[in-house]
This record gives sequence, structure tokens and C-alpha cells, in this order.
Amino acid sequence: KLHNQVEDAKGNIRVFCRCRPLSKSESSTGCSTIVDFDSASNGELGILNSGSTKKTFKFDRVFTPNDNQVDVFSQASPLVTSVLDGYNVCIFAYGQTGTGKTFTMEGTEGNRGVNYRTLEELFKVAKERIDTFTYDISVSVLEVYNEQIRDLLTTSSSSSKKLEIKQASEGHHNIPGLVEAKVGNIQEVWNVLRAGSSARAVGSTNVNEHSSRSHCMLCIMVKAKNLISGECTKSKLWLVDLAGSERLGKTEAQGERLKEAQNINRSLSALGDVISALANKSSHIPYRNSKLTHLLQDSLGGDSKTLMFVQISPSDNDLSETLSSLNFATRVR
Ligand code: ADP
Ligand code: MG
Repeated sequence: KLHNQVEDAKGNIRVFCRCRPLSKSESSTGCSTIVDFDSASNGELGILNSGSTKKTFKFDRVFTPNDNQVDVFSQASPLVTSVLDGYNVCIFAYGQTGTGKTFTMEGTEGNRGVNYRTLEELFKVAKERIDTFTYDISVSVLEVYNEQIRDLLTTSSSSSKKLEIKQASEGHHNIPGLVEAKVGNIQEVWNVLRAGSSARAVGSTNVNEHSSRSHCMLCIMVKAKNLISGECTKSKLWLVDLAGSERLGKTEAQGERLKEAQNINRSLSALGDVISALANKSSHIPYRNSKLTHLLQDSLGGDSKTLMFVQISPSDNDLSETLSSLNFATRVR
């Protein structure tokens, strides 16, 4: 494996915090900002707690509301290109609904996020290495909702068929039937990502609500052949827009909504448990406690690289959810 600039003594888990701007409706209704960015360049963030006290959190990097998509991607880019050197990589966006998870990962058409920029960068670097490597790149898009895996690229009528994870060998698994779309250039990628998003909407009455309650996962598979040594490697890069981490309101705590919330809770805590077990070099890593962590098993741990974006709101209205996200992040760091 090639030397990689992301490597350092701290290990392979990194946490970035990104705070969105105060929205128009928040400013017009008199919400104030509780986040202090004075030491943001050192990776520190202060939360102003009811006026007098300030709680400080430390991250590998802090992005303020002034940082744009290019600023954010420039910090993630060495990590994503390490998949071309044979590393497995996972990138997550974690946080309360409305804090910018989808903005960071998917972005908008005029303001693209990590997913699109990652594929663009992979094609660019692959082209630079054309004399020494050939790369095959394919993608899968899937969703985990209520502990069920749904393929968002399948065109067959059996799209409602539940996908299962099959153990192939120690630490490796596959998902029989999952579509892997081979992509040769960024236009093909755009088409695939669009197909994935529209499939997400099928069967849900409110797309935004549905997507905030499911994990949306993009998997990029890379097969590399070194033309000089003949060596072949296979690696995976997961890009995950997690379900919203907010707690349920009292009035919602029943029926289908309660079941959804319990499944989200369970999978997000399972993710936190896995990452903190890895960070603490624990001997048992509890991958099997949720579909999410089971799917990611071969890309979390070992010499894989992990990046979590903790997304927060600047508003005083969201103080308790913000503290809970920051505490989650502190646990995995
Ligand atoms: P989530 O996926 O966490 O529910 P969204 O990505 O949908 O949140 O973001 C909520 C709203 O805030 C969207 O309108 C989005 O465009 C906007 N937004 C989020 N982050 C930023 C940002 N960094 N800069 C500008 N607008 C943002
Ligand atoms: Mg979203």
C-alpha cells in the first residue's frame, strides 16, 4: 500500500464538526446563536449554556457556517482517495434532522456535496495514474429502514424483496442480489445517484420525513490492478447519510413512529458502540447489533479509515439536541 498523508499516530478515526447557518425563519423568530467559533481553527467549539457557562468540545476539525462545500471536501479528499490505494473507508453524517447531513453528503445540484465530489476526485486521480493502475469502479445505493435493507438501484419488480447479508468468509460478507452499477465517468455517476434518490421516494408519502428516518448508504467499490507488479486489490468506500438522531416528542411516541424511533435509536447506538470499541482497541467489536454496523463490518476497523461529520444547529432552540450530538461525538473520538 502506498504511503498515505492521512496517517498519523492517533489512529484511523476522525471526527469533524459542521455547524449550519441560522436559517431565515430562525433569525426572524428571534433565535440566537449559542455556538462560539473563536477557537474553531484549533478544532474547538464552545457551546454557550444559558448565558454564563461555556462548554468546550474538541474535534479534528470544526467547520463554521462560513465554510462552504469546497472547504469541507478539501479536508475529506485525502481520505477518500486512499480507497484507490486499497484502503476501506467509511464516512458518516450524524445529527439531528435539519442540521445539514444531506447538505454535506448529497448537497444540491448547484452546490454539490461529498458524494459527488468524491466520485469526481476518484476519476481524476485514477486518470492521473493511468500508466501504473487500472481501476474498475462500481456503486450500490441502498437504504436501511426499520432494520430492513432496500436496494435503491434495482429496476426489477422484486424491489420490495428484502435483502440479507451473507457471510462470505471471516470479516467479509456480501449481499446477494444487490445491484452494483459499473460507472466509467462522472456523468454515469450522476445518473445513478439520481436514480437512487427517486427510488427512495417510491412508496413514501412524505419523502423528507422518510429520508430523515432511514439511513441512506452509497457504497463505492474499487478494483485496482497495478500494471507493474500485477497485484490486484479490492476496496470499498461507504458514504452514509444517517437517520436523524433527535429524540421522539411525547405526542409521537406511539405506533409506527415509535417503532421507527426505536430502530433508529438502536442502530445509532450500535454505531457509537462499534466506533468507541474500535477507538478503545477493545477485543470484542459488536458489529452484529444492527443492520447498519453489520453492513459496514468489513469497512470499520482493521486498517480502514473512518470519518464522522457531526452536524449541528447554531440555534438556542436546539441546545439539548446539539449537546446530545456533541456528547455522542465525544464518546467515539
Ligand atoms: P438534514 O439532512 O440533517 O435533515 P438538510 O441537509 O436537509 O438537513 O439541511 C436542512 C436545511 O439547511 C436545508 O435547506 C439545507 O440546504 C440547509 N443547510 C444545511 N447546511 C447548510 C450549510 N452549511 N449552508 C447553507 N445551508 C445549509
Ligand atoms: Mg436529510
